[in-house]
Amino acid sequence: MADRLIPGETIGILGGGQLGRMMAVAAKHMGYRVAVLDPKPDCPCTQVADYHIEAAYDDLEAARNLENISDVITYEFENVDLNVADMLEKAGKLPQGALPLEITQNRQKEKQIAVETGLNVPNYEIVQTFDQVKTAIQSIGYPAILKTITGGYDGKGQVKLNKEEDLAEVESFIAPDSTYIIEAFIDFQKEVSVVFTRSQTGEITYFPVAENTHNNQILHRTQIPAAINDNVAAQAKAAAKLLAEHLQVVGTFTVELFVKDDQVYVNEMAPRPHNSGHYTIEACNVSQFEQHVRAICGLPLLKVQSFPAAVMLNILGKHREELFQNLARIQDFHLHDYGKEEARPERKMGHITIIGTSLDEIFQRMEENQLPTW
Ligand code: ADP
Ligand code: MG
Repeated sequence: MADRLIPGETIGILGGGQLGRMMAVAAKHMGYRVAVLDPKPDCPCTQVADYHIEAAYDDLEAARNLENISDVITYEFENVDLNVADMLEKAGKLPQGALPLEITQNRQKEKQIAVETGLNVPNYEIVQTFDQVKTAIQSIGYPAILKTITGGYDGKGQVKLNKEEDLAEVESFIAPDSTYIIEAFIDFQKEVSVVFTRSQTGEITYFPVAENTHNNQILHRTQIPAAINDNVAAQAKAAAKLLAEHLQVVGTFTVELFVKDDQVYVNEMAPRPHNSGHYTIEACNVSQFEQHVRAICGLPLLKVQSFPAAVMLNILGKHREELFQNLARIQDFHLHDYGKEEARPERKMGHITIIGTSLDEIFQRMEENQLPTW
């Protein structure tokens, strides 16, 4: 692999969703060419990429084609086929490596890494049968949350257990020969995330710690500054740094955390730019995507500077129509639409960002401009 990619060379992206699209936009403004591998003909990234390889994610032959036309390869989602990732790493084209994928694809490995690194996680047990759930809940207690060990996103593949009667739901949820994690449900005061970028030489830059609000386990709103004290902010960044160094992260990476009684607990990690980092596009001098492109291309990272405050709201399928009808009337926000045709009610279709001098000032302007807040 060329240590340093120069404009005109090609970045290959595994996965063609909105994160790939926003990565591609950042890459394009720096003059790189972009190739994407995704099975869908008109996926969000294809609309801005130079080349599209239309194939399944686990198609090794297609991945080899991507490797042939790309000078470096990255991924926009964690469920990349590990055989593909290994092949690309061996070919010297995947500076992020396969390890962060292997860890973040599996909630058990993710928790183990956090614990090995000395970080707090909710109490948890790994279970496969309903009997094991019943035993585990005795030590974990209610409320608890059961999650599929792989493949979940936006709250999919999860069941919350508030009381013993909810066990009945778990019995039907559990499939044979599958593995689950059952975790104590943390009664957190805040959910925050640390989005950071690590270069190939080990330099780390952090974006401001973001405060996140979920609706039905789907990210709804991100805002900065997070309303946390300096001690919690320092813990959050220290957790991110420990994980980054332990996993030898390259590129933009995200750690989701719960804050309870001034302690942070690691929830999840994502080896890629993250929905809670979209505000960086307008609120920071360098976005999570541009910084990612710089890292994988072997360029120096930029020192991050930020507007004092920002709010990002996700647009789901059920919101888009209303927003589009009012586009001419509503002022003062940045619109991102991901170019997805099918607007399923809970599907992430785009987002809006409002930047300003303080959160109070932003909320006041949102009210004045009658911005839908859903
Ligand atoms: P994913 O984002 O992959 O769907 P998460 O594990 O991040 O899965 O869960 C989604 C959301 O559900 C979290 O952001 C959080 O709001 C809530 N949640 C998940 N696990 C817990 C937990 N152990 N305690 C409290 N809330 C939780
Ligand atoms: Mg999550």
